[in-house]
Amino acid sequence: MVELLRFGHYVDGTFTEPAAAMIDSEDPARGVPWAQISRGDAQTADSALRSARRAFEAPSWAGLGARERADLLETLASAIAARWPDLLDAEISDNGKRIVEVRAQFAALPVWFRAAAAQARELKDTSLTLGMPGVSADQTHLPYGPIVAITPWNSPLMILSWKLAPALAAGNTVVAKPSEHASVSTLLFADLLHEAGLPPGVFNVVTGFGAEVGAALVAHEETRFVSFTGSEMGGARVAAAAAAHVVPTVLELGGKSPQIVFADADLESAVYGIASGVFLSNGQSCIAGSRLIVENAIKQPLLERLIGRVSRLRMGDPREPATEIGPLANRAHADKVRAMIARAKVEGAECVLDGVAAAHGQGACFVGPTIFDRVTPQMEIWREEVFGPVLAVASFADAETALRLAQDTRYGLAAGVWSLDLHRARRFAEQLQVGTIYINHYRSVDPNAPIGGIGRSGYGRELGPEAVRGFLQTRTVWTGDAPISDPFPA
Ligand code: NAD
Repeated sequence: MVELLRFGHYVDGTFTEPAAAMIDSEDPARGVPWAQISRGDAQTADSALRSARRAFEAPSWAGLGARERADLLETLASAIAARWPDLLDAEISDNGKRIVEVRAQFAALPVWFRAAAAQARELKDTSLTLGMPGVSADQTHLPYGPIVAITPWNSPLMILSWKLAPALAAGNTVVAKPSEHASVSTLLFADLLHEAGLPPGVFNVVTGFGAEVGAALVAHEETRFVSFTGSEMGGARVAAAAAAHVVPTVLELGGKSPQIVFADADLESAVYGIASGVFLSNGQSCIAGSRLIVENAIKQPLLERLIGRVSRLRMGDPREPATEIGPLANRAHADKVRAMIARAKVEGAECVLDGVAAAHGQGACFVGPTIFDRVTPQMEIWREEVFGPVLAVASFADAETALRLAQDTRYGLAAGVWSLDLHRARRFAEQLQVGTIYINHYRSVDPNAPIGGIGRSGYGRELGPEAVRGFLQTRTVWTGDAPISDPFPA
């Protein structure tokens, strides 16, 4: 029998002993456990937050100015650039992401740290214009303190970095709680950053279930801010628990993002944009463009090309660079995706590409690209996030119907609009209630472009020019420039 790697939590710059209760992490491609993480509880949350509080107040962190923190973030970025290959295998074993995608995400990790460093260098106090004589005022900023960062399993280190880098640049300390399905890369990342010079306790990682150690972190008296990425239900619970002790939250939640294709679109680009939108990462992406809304006149040629392209994708071992479709991240999730596909068939959607049949013999976690035509807005496959490689297709005769279909969702994360008439595309796009619009493009992220949702996709933004400011509180400092007079003159 192969011995499993066993991990403790990462608190105060060191790994704790593995806990009495452990959680298996299964390699979804091989179908066997490969590691065990500690099942944290309220006591774990308490020790991590106390460590984060001590570090927040310690001169080795509190004594750094914004420029020194920026220098440190640059040092961390260089260490990540040198050492990210060491983390590849853990990530693939945990969530089955293809090596090509993990490499691209990890190689980009230093970018998020350097962008936060650049913003930290620009932080300055502002002198305010007041409508009164004899007094002046400045707007200054102060960090929150210990911040809880809760992340999902699909892209653990990228999503963590969007929180961690700006939170540190602003002078906070962080306790991260990665998904119970994919925690190991985050633990190793904490150790890498500590070895690169991040003082102990500035970044801690606790592992375990959301309802246990996750909930304990959010409810803890030392927590000053919670940044959450995950499901709609998880986000709602976290926000309610944080609100109970007046702690602000940022929520990055799910989506059911539409791709609207007009008849005058560049068909080839649209096909590639749709394929990358919903089939890269097997659709396990918050901005997956999972609803295709296509003008009647081009529906058949578009679907033919799309099916022609994605039905040839090579399914298999995520460690193999030639693989184009790897496994879904875990068994329970794959079962959920297969059940949603089965229900869509029962509800009457027409399955024009069947990824369940295509994955036959590949293993319990594999589901191939799946396309449903003639989907109606009442069907589950139209309304609910699958978080898998499933595209729901509907068609329209006029822009008004296209808009109605696109907006027929409680989510508002992203949308794609495809048309070579840029004026029309822009006018249409601006009516969409979503946080990110891509016109003749899809899926990119950049440190200078904010991302976040509207409606049930959440609130608050990550990345963008305000990323570091998002982890700072504003303070106004008034200074009397002249003696003040008696407030109770006789
Ligand atoms: P999830 O909500 O089940 O879990 C996310 C994280 O929250 C995990 O670490 C989990 O342990 C924790 N958690 C769950 N309940 C909690 C609670 N009550 N208190 C504290 N922590 C709790 O989501 P998931 O299945 O890991 O991830 C998939 C979801 O994430 C999808 O809905 C997807 O759209 C969303 N997502 C959103 C973005 C974005 O940027 N908007 C990015 C990636 C994923």
